Amino acid sequence: MDCPRCKSQLKLVKVTNVDLEQCANCKGIFFDNFELKKFDEPHESPSEKIILENSSSAAVLKDSPKKISCPKCSNIKMMTRFYSVKQKIEIDECGACGGIWVDAGELAEIRAEFSTEEARDTATAKFVSFTTERPMEESQAVLEKELAILKRIGRVLHFIFPDSPNVPDKK
Ligand SMILES: [Zn+2]
Ligand SMILES: [Zn+2]
Repeated sequence: MDCPRCKSQLKLVKVTNVDLEQCANCKGIFFDNFELKKFDEPHESPSEKIILENSSSAAVLKDSPKKISCPKCSNIKMMTRFYSVKQKIEIDECGACGGIWVDAGELAEIRAEFSTEEARDTATAKFVSFTTERPMEESQAVLEKELAILKRIGRVLHFIFPDSPNVPDKK
């Protein structure tokens, strides 16, 4: 697979039992949906190195397109999702395979924003309110799809903070 940002080859990085694809050049990371599920299980903090690498990348990505294609499903454009209390962190998510792309530096931004337990609790609370405060006319199918996306993004959070609460299941 190629990096959706800079077109360099992605290389396999093992984080305990989880396989991630990381760009050797810009340090962006692709989280395969199947691999993401493994973050539901408790793990030690093996993510430190990859978070540091992702954070310290000096690659300039200014010229890269706003919309990127999924590295796995090459012809599918990824959707930009905001994931943060302040709505400033963007994560790209593939509607087809459920993979998530995290640009260089974004893991550090997420970590900074969710550095307190309180912030993480707020994020979890937001998931709950998201599932309960939606307009009635919205179909169950739409809701479930959205919730699935949130859960996947929540797993990225769980990757960064192994001790953070899991995204709750639908009540
Ligand atoms: Zn790259
Ligand atoms: Zn995909």
